[in-house]
Amino acid sequence: MSGISRRDFLRTSSAGIAGTTLGAFGFTEVQAAMVAAVKPFHLVNTTETRNTCTYCSVACGIIIYSKGDIRKGEHADIVHIEGDADHPTNRGTLCPKGAALRDIVKSATRLTQPMLRKPGSDKFVPVAWEVALDKIARAMKDDRDANFIAKNADGTTVNRWLTTGFLAASATTNETAYATYKVVRSTGILAFDNQARV
Ligand code: SF4
Repeated sequence: MSGISRRDFLRTSSAGIAGTTLGAFGFTEVQAAMVAAVKPFHLVNTTETRNTCTYCSVACGIIIYSKGDIRKGEHADIVHIEGDADHPTNRGTLCPKGAALRDIVKSATRLTQPMLRKPGSDKFVPVAWEVALDKIARAMKDDRDANFIAKNADGTTVNRWLTTGFLAASATTNETAYATYKVVRSTGILAFDNQARV
């Protein structure tokens, strides 16, 4: 066998036998069917955005996957949400509520804008965020001006505002929670809580 080594001969022969045997079993058709059955990876061409689970004070890190580039004027639609493996709190894990976060986003009953029920009306109507924020600020200022207690009966400075309460979100970073606490307490509000009551 000039020009071909023993190793080359064996390699070529093995490939030929394998090809013939697989061909006899119709393996190429099976292979084609398998390839056709494999779904494309659903996170291809998605944008990853890191965020915090909205549910509770554990504040697990999440990654939100969306399709559509808003920088090109496209509508960005959330297609998947999962735990962030790099987040020190949850290391990629999510409890059942967190694992169902996408359902919150897609829920038909989810509120996406402020709702206002005017005096005497029996229904809520959507209003712009500016309208809602101005209305809340006006009501808080008027109530604080009317009810702020600077000193108690003994003349001791107390700076209390007892007629308004503040409900904040627990699912925030430490820094946001700290800033929120400082702002709310600086007004004299005592009734201050969040949805996780921590
Ligand atoms: S995933 Fe579960 S434990 Fe983590 S913040 Fe959300 S609700 Fe809390």
